[in-house]
Amino acid sequence: MSLTRLSVGDASAHMLDGIAPVGEERVDLRASLGRVLARDVTSPVSLPPWNNASMDGFAVHAADIRGASADAPVRLRVVETIAAGRRGRFSLSEGAAVRIMTGAPVPEGADSVVRVEDTGGGPDLVEIRDDRDAGANIRAAGEDVRAGAVVMRAGTIVGAAHVGVLASVGCARPHVHRRPRVAILATGDELVPVEGFDEVLGGDRIVSSNTYSLAAAVREAGGEPVQMVIAPDDPDAIAHCLRSAEGADLILTSGGVSVGDFDYTREVVARLGGELSLWRVRMRPGAPLGFGRLFDVPWLGLPGNPVSALVTFELFGRPLLRTLAGAMRPHRRAVPAIVDEKITLRAPLTHFLRCVLSDGDDGSLHARLTGAQSSGMLTSMSLADALLIVPPEPAVVAAGTTLRALPLDGDLGGSDRFPA
Ligand code: AMP
Ligand code: MG
Repeated sequence: MSLTRLSVGDASAHMLDGIAPVGEERVDLRASLGRVLARDVTSPVSLPPWNNASMDGFAVHAADIRGASADAPVRLRVVETIAAGRRGRFSLSEGAAVRIMTGAPVPEGADSVVRVEDTGGGPDLVEIRDDRDAGANIRAAGEDVRAGAVVMRAGTIVGAAHVGVLASVGCARPHVHRRPRVAILATGDELVPVEGFDEVLGGDRIVSSNTYSLAAAVREAGGEPVQMVIAPDDPDAIAHCLRSAEGADLILTSGGVSVGDFDYTREVVARLGGELSLWRVRMRPGAPLGFGRLFDVPWLGLPGNPVSALVTFELFGRPLLRTLAGAMRPHRRAVPAIVDEKITLRAPLTHFLRCVLSDGDDGSLHARLTGAQSSGMLTSMSLADALLIVPPEPAVVAAGTTLRALPLDGDLGGSDRFPA
């Protein structure tokens, strides 16, 4: 018995239950951006490795400069100069100063670095004209990272700062989860690949746009599309094509999962020994959705309508893929948005409406629908930068209501305003 007509939240929880990340591989640090760490990373060194100056200036004893001012400067002997990348020869004696550059090791005994702006005088004698830096401007060894400490946990998504940290602790080839391999099977007698566009011009075919949009969405989510095949509405042909999906980490099918006369996907999955555990979700677009296991990996049966396919991929496929990729927070974060127009729902289902977000003068995000919401209108999906989440109740949402929107890119479509 499969679960039917679950809410979107229950459906997602069901699908993600028990999904474990795929195996790991080592990649060059430069190629690790966007990947998910498969192991904790420990630092073999302390950072910074030595007490160092955070300013260009003079390393001194705080006790020697207390009370210094422009009117009553303190004069100290300059015993040497330490540049970044060099070590000093002496420990600092009383009444002495060492000229020091940012990042250079602070000499033994010094407890302050006086910024150069507060000093004057010749090369051998320095005049300290302010005591505000007494006890300041030294970065302690190990204040950032202690040798032996974990600097990054498995499950971390590697961003630019992470690449920097990994580099600084010597991790040249981090262990990351490999990209999940995703098989994509489109079904439909009417479908041709884009290379068959002549048949579209001929009048009785359409391009299997899902093949391409889903592959792109898989790539965007950190997966590797494999086995992109198109099958006619014929159970034997679908079975044959589905067999080629064996070995993938996730199987996506599009189309043929509804109740039409030629909808064979569920039947073929069962024939191949797969199991349908969930069918239909209380949402629009995308209600006729199937989920289960086939060849011992998750299978997600997306509806054929191009918008439904992408919206359901976004809601269910992407989190599955992110979980397989090792991410610990697989969902996109929804943001509050004020709806700028009245919305009337025709069914008590959770709706995901294509919208454009913009920055209001009030500092809030505002959402405008992209127009007609038919699930066949793929151009309206390309115009949208977010999906507005409209709960099943109430049926009428007044303009000015705050709902939540699911941005379709991490960048919220970008803003024309500087943020600060
Ligand atoms: P189905 O889910 O098979 O009933 O298909 C629903 C609608 O989506 C029909 O209008 C199909 O022509 C269309 N469709 C199905 N598969 C695709 C595809 N791969 N690319 C574009 N449109 C599709
Ligand atoms: Mg079909």
